Amino acid sequence: MHELPVTKGILAAAVEAAEQNGARRIIAIDLVIGNLASIVDDSVQFYFDMLSKNTLAEGAKLNFKRESGTARCWDCGHQFDAGIPLIRECPACNSARLHVSGGREFYVESIEVDDENSSS
Ligand SMILES: [Zn+2]
Repeated sequence: MHELPVTKGILAAAVEAAEQNGARRIIAIDLVIGNLASIVDDSVQFYFDMLSKNTLAEGAKLNFKRESGTARCWDCGHQFDAGIPLIRECPACNSARLHVSGGREFYVESIEVDDENSSS
């Protein structure tokens, strides 16, 4: 379970971005999570609710976007989406020599804020 430090990082990044933009409140945070990054959405939301109390991000909605990894077979060149459970053999030729890339990202794509300029 590594959602706690990860969630702290997200919160810090979002609050910093909001402060730089003079925002009063963070309404929503769009997150991108790779299919192979063993992160559970519900855990992130749970920790976020706990950590965001009394910050600009309190009550913000988290939107999760899943990104899949790509597996490529060294032997026949076949490419396919890699998710969990991870496929260990090429579906085209049964080779076990696969190269997996991507799918492990985890970052804040964008944040939606309530800023002072839009209140007039
Ligand atoms: Zn293959």
